[in-house]
Amino acid sequence: SDCQFSVPTMPSEFDWSESFPEFFSQEETTEGKDLKVRFADIGCGFGGLIVQMSPLFPKSLMVGMELRDKVSEYVKERIIALREQHPGQYENISVLRTNAMKYLPNYFEKGQLQKMFFLFPDPHFKEKNHRRRIISTALLAEYAYIMAVGGILYTITDVQELGEWMKTTLDAHPLFQPLTDEELEKDVCVPLLTTATEEGQKVERNGGSTYKAIYRRIAGPGYS
Ligand code: SAM
Repeated sequence: SDCQFSVPTMPSEFDWSESFPEFFSQEETTEGKDLKVRFADIGCGFGGLIVQMSPLFPKSLMVGMELRDKVSEYVKERIIALREQHPGQYENISVLRTNAMKYLPNYFEKGQLQKMFFLFPDPHFKEKNHRRRIISTALLAEYAYIMAVGGILYTITDVQELGEWMKTTLDAHPLFQPLTDEELEKDVCVPLLTTATEEGQKVERNGGSTYKAIYRRIAGPGYS
């Protein structure tokens, strides 16, 4: 469980240079370079999303967060192999084993993240387990805190009831606003939600339905 991995007590304590050695090594060219993680894929599974997004946003650092040890190790190896096969590429992606429901503010500062992804999260069907869902009123306050105003939060599921739950919970939150159809059309990440991840591909193969809820972090009255 949690005691098997170490957690920084605050974001400034965490050394990201091990995750992104190439970005941090070129001291002389770091000027104007953004060395903060801007995208987080929560419960990244086998890492399909960050792998596909890497070349689309080569200057943005992105991290997959995954609770399962073996799965996060797999993603780590996958990234090492990709970096070896394609020198100079895939340097902007990394994976962390952590419990994202507990520790996100230990890794990210206020307003740091430009994108957060919650793709095919565990449904926790039973009513008494709804508090364990990764989209909840309490956790949305935390996500709002670590997200930049204007940042985008993406969710998708193949479980209709969970899709409705995520939408209702996000709609009720004053710091999130749904993207318009036009904005969804223009967003290059939206198609990846169904095609990039292992879970998304499984649902596509089986011809299943998916339910998306995609929201912008907005400024609140008297609160940024
Ligand atoms: N997003 C991936 C995809 O679309 O293929 C994986 C979806 S899988 C159904 C859900 C993943 O979330 C699992 O890999 C699980 O281990 C991970 N997970 C569940 N709770 C988590 C938590 N608290 N912190 C980090 N990862 C978590």
